[in-house]
Amino acid sequence: MNYFYVKKIKNMQIGKYSFGIGDRFAHQGEAQLNALMKASETLGLEIVPVWNKSNREHIIVHSTPADTRSEADAAVKALRYKGQYFVDADHINLSNVDKFIDASDFFTLDVADYIGKKAAQADIDAFVADHLKYAGKLQIPGIAEPFDVPKDLLIRITEKFLYAVQEAGKIYRHIEKVKGAGCFVAEVSMDEVNEAQSPVEMFFILSAIAAEKIPAQTIAPKFTGRFNKGVDYAGNIAQFTREFEQDLLVIDFAVKEFGLPANLKLSIHSGSDKFSIYPVMGELIRKYDKGIHMKTAGTTWLEEMIGLAMSNDEEAIDLVKAIYSSAIGRFDELCGPYATVIDINKNRLPSAKEVERWTGEKLANTLRHIPGHPNYNPHFRQLIHVGYKVAAEYGAVYTATLEMHKEIVGQQVIENIYDRHIKRLFGIDH
Ligand SMILES: [Zn+2]
Repeated sequence: MNYFYVKKIKNMQIGKYSFGIGDRFAHQGEAQLNALMKASETLGLEIVPVWNKSNREHIIVHSTPADTRSEADAAVKALRYKGQYFVDADHINLSNVDKFIDASDFFTLDVADYIGKKAAQADIDAFVADHLKYAGKLQIPGIAEPFDVPKDLLIRITEKFLYAVQEAGKIYRHIEKVKGAGCFVAEVSMDEVNEAQSPVEMFFILSAIAAEKIPAQTIAPKFTGRFNKGVDYAGNIAQFTREFEQDLLVIDFAVKEFGLPANLKLSIHSGSDKFSIYPVMGELIRKYDKGIHMKTAGTTWLEEMIGLAMSNDEEAIDLVKAIYSSAIGRFDELCGPYATVIDINKNRLPSAKEVERWTGEKLANTLRHIPGHPNYNPHFRQLIHVGYKVAAEYGAVYTATLEMHKEIVGQQVIENIYDRHIKRLFGIDH
């Protein structure tokens, strides 16, 4: 049994800017925090760290939410960090939330699986009746053209989303009973689906969230386009821009209209590395003076691999190559669970034999996401990303190698978060 002293704060409100920082093997907490503290020191940007880890990751790595809490607390203590920070029970539902409750103070209520399941007919009828005043022309302040919302669209949206939000309410109340109202941050996530939610859908979803009395501070819709793990955005940037801007304005209006928390902000389950849309999002949140939660995926582990590749230590370099070799042999097993968030062209993957001959530098350059670098290979990068299961099987061999090369690995982690993510999002020239 683990006991924690998780500070009880009433009316816990997450700061305007926050970064979700996943860390598969719980070894880079200090480096991650360092990157965010560097943003505060050099750019004057306060970005709240949120250590997120999903149930799936815990199962694959054989870790527990308590480990994430210990990592976060240790990093905060070691760096004498005085700001706010959170531990996120990422993508949880009623079936697995219990083991997260003690250690977490941020909960991502994932109801994507319930989208499309119909609520009780009486609930649907009542919701539609309550919202008829928004049918016809829905004018959102700040958006020039009103949205067309015929009654049958209102009914379709209600049938599609009401049940999912009711489920979010159940999970929320379950957590609230244990932790107490206001003692944690709640996010509602619907991002792990194929179909994007429109700004109009978002409006009614937010109303349903308010009706369930979920004081959501962050909301994670699915946006248009592909958000593959660890690589750039693939989709229509103009359409994304329009959707993102309209979502910001819809949230603004919904907060006032339905009485949601004033700091409610978008949570972008970015999958990390969405370099081509970071400037778009950055500009729009500055234009409307909005906050953002940028959830990065567990790509910190890729920086570990890059650091090991650069270590000049043959054994560490061989370990990276061995992990790749095993990953390519177990392609279907590793990629299966991530099918909706990766796009790997097998023909673009170098063979294990070829990689064996590479220098550490070539290995690092192939993996590191520098757009336009002649060695960068997004297929290789995505396969390694889902290959963390292989590294987990190496267990102490892997983590001892990380510890041996702590410094160079840490440098990669900091450079990645600070230079490639924060600077791009906040429009700092690099
Ligand atoms: Zn997500």
